[in-house]
Amino acid sequence: MSNEPDLLPPPSYPRSGLPGTTVRFHCLRCEWFHDERPDLEPTPPIRLPAHAHGATLEQVLQSVTPDEITSAIGAAADERAKAVNQRIDHAFTDHYAEAHPDFIPPVLGVS
Ligand SMILES: [Zn+2]
Repeated sequence: MSNEPDLLPPPSYPRSGLPGTTVRFHCLRCEWFHDERPDLEPTPPIRLPAHAHGATLEQVLQSVTPDEITSAIGAAADERAKAVNQRIDHAFTDHYAEAHPDFIPPVLGVS
């Protein structure tokens, strides 16, 4: 994490306890919020190294190292997190432009 002040308040979880999870990001200036549903987020494809091969999934997995699988899963998770962060960033940028044009949007360091 950087030393930037945390300008975006921690999200709330207004529907915790129910099936599915809503993560709610609140505007610092008004009652507006942006909801994310991480449980509905599509999982990006896991891209194995080019040398991965085999006729069955088991053979394919045996043709790569555990580190390569870990790396591929990590890359897919990063891709998904980046897409979520961009969507939140755009939602807040649009909201600030519309509702608070004098306000400089916070740095969105959403993890
Ligand atoms: Zn607002």
